[in-house]
Amino acid sequence: AFSLVWLRNDLRVYDNQALFEACQAGLPVVALFVATPDSWQQHFMAPIKQDFIRRRVLQLQTELALLNIPLVAVEGSHYDALPALMQQFIDAGAEALYGHNEYELRERLRDNKVSATFADAGKTSFWFDRKAVMPPGSILSKTGGIYQIFTPFKKTWLARLRETGVRCFPKPKALGDVTLQLPALPAMQQGDGSSAAYAVDELQVLDQMRQFCRDKAAFYQTERDFPALDGTSSLSAYLAIGVVSAQQCISRLQLEAASDWDREKSGAAVWLSELVWRDFYHHILMAFPDLIKHKAFQKDTDGIVWPNNAQLFQTWCEGKTGYPIVDAAMRQLNRTGWMHNRLRMIVASFLVKDLHIDWRWGEQYFMSKLIDGDFAANNGGWQWAASTGTDAAPYFRIFNPVTQSERFDPDGVFIKRMLPELADVPKKQIHWPHPLPLWSDYVKPIVDHSKARLRTLELFHTVKKPQ
Ligand code: FAD
Repeated sequence: AFSLVWLRNDLRVYDNQALFEACQAGLPVVALFVATPDSWQQHFMAPIKQDFIRRRVLQLQTELALLNIPLVAVEGSHYDALPALMQQFIDAGAEALYGHNEYELRERLRDNKVSATFADAGKTSFWFDRKAVMPPGSILSKTGGIYQIFTPFKKTWLARLRETGVRCFPKPKALGDVTLQLPALPAMQQGDGSSAAYAVDELQVLDQMRQFCRDKAAFYQTERDFPALDGTSSLSAYLAIGVVSAQQCISRLQLEAASDWDREKSGAAVWLSELVWRDFYHHILMAFPDLIKHKAFQKDTDGIVWPNNAQLFQTWCEGKTGYPIVDAAMRQLNRTGWMHNRLRMIVASFLVKDLHIDWRWGEQYFMSKLIDGDFAANNGGWQWAASTGTDAAPYFRIFNPVTQSERFDPDGVFIKRMLPELADVPKKQIHWPHPLPLWSDYVKPIVDHSKARLRTLELFHTVKKPQ
C-alpha cells in the first residue's frame, strides 16, 4: 500500500503541502506526473512551456529519489484518460490521493472525476488550496461579496496577511527504502529543448528568488517599468508551474525587507502588490467561471463587433507593425517566450485599440508563445488592456504607443536590442523613425494611431454611452 501524490502545477519539493502531508501519513509515497499533450494543445499551451514542464519533471524525479520517493512520469494524452490511469494505481495499492486544487474549469472537472474514481474504490482524496496565497473565496467584502475591483481586494488581502502570515511547508524527510510494484505505463517523453535558458534545479530557482528579494526588490518600484533594465524578478515561468510558490516569495520578502514590505510604495510593497494581482485574478476566475469560456467580464463589451483584419493580426504577431516598441516587444515574445509586463500592456492595447482585433485573438497568441502562460493572469491582463475586464483601463484611455515608448525606453536601448535594423537610428527618432531613413529596411507603419483611436471610441460607443 502507498499514498499517491499527483503533481501538476506544483513541481517542487519545498513548500509542497500535498507531498508533505502524504509523507506524514506513514505509508510509502509515490509521486505521479502525467504529461497530457492533447489537453495542453486544447489550451494552446506554448511548446516552450511544455518543454519546460518536461525538463522540470525529469529534474524533480532526481530530487525526489533522494527522499526515496519514486516519481512515475507518464506520457498520457488527454484529461479524459486519467480516471482509468488512476484506477491502475488504485489496483496497485494506492490508498489515498494527495494534490493541490487547480482553478480552471476543465481542470476542476478532471479532478472531480479522479476523486470519484478514488471514492468509488473506497479511497480518499486530499486536496489542498495553495495555488493562490489566500484561497479563492476567502477574501470577501464586509457584506460577503466577491471583490471585483483590485484596490479594496488588496486592502483586505493585506490585512489578512498581517493577521495570519504565510505558512510554508518544509521539505519532507527522506522515507524508508521500499520496493513497490507499480503499473507499467509509457514513460514521459523529452521535450524539444526550447526552454533550455530556464533553470530547472529547484535550489537554483530558490536562490534566484532569494537574490531578488535581497538585492533587487527594494528597487522594483523605480525599475520595473523599463524593459531595457533587468528590474523584475523573472520568476513568472517558475510560479506558473510551481517550481516556487508565491507563499515562498512572500515569506522571503518579509524576511529580507523587514517592515518595508508593508510600507506603501516601497519597492518590496510594490512587488508584493504584483503577487496580490496574481491572487486577485485567481479569485476572479473561480468566482466567474464564464471567464474560462472567454466571455468578457463587462458583458456589454461582448456586443462590440471587432473588424478582425487577419492580415493586420499577422503583422502584429510577427512584430512588423512599423511601431518600434510594439515590434521589439513581439520579437522578445517570439524569441524568448517571455515579455516584459509594460510591453504586454502596450502590445495588448495596440492589438485591440489600434488594430481593432478582438482581445481573444491576442490572448490565444500569448498563450501559444508564453513560457509563463497562465489562464487567470493572461485573461485578466488582456481584459484589462481591452477595457472589458474587472479593473479595466477605461475604454477612452488609450495608450499612445509612441509616448509609451518615449517614457519607458527613453534611449531606445530595448528597441535596438530587438530590432537591429534600427541600430543606427538616432535616439530622437527611434520611437518613430518615419519616414524611414534611406538605409533602413524597417517596415512602414500599418496604421495611423490618431485615426485608429477615434475608431476605437466609435466601437465602444456602440455598446457604451459616450463619456
Ligand atoms: P514581476 O514583476 O517580478 O512580478 C512577480 C510575479 O507576480 C510574477 O512572476 C507573476 O507571477 C505575478 N504578476 C506580476 N504582474 C502580474 C499581473 N499583472 N497579473 C497577475 N500576476 C502578476 N503573467 C503570467 O504569469 N502569465 C501570463 O500568462 C500573463 N499574461 C499577461 C498578459 C497581459 C496582456 C498582461 C498585461 C500581463 C500578463 N501577465 C501574465 C502579468 C505580467 O506581465 C507577468 O506576470 C510579468 O511580466 C512576469 O515577469 P516577472 O516574473 O519578472 O514579474
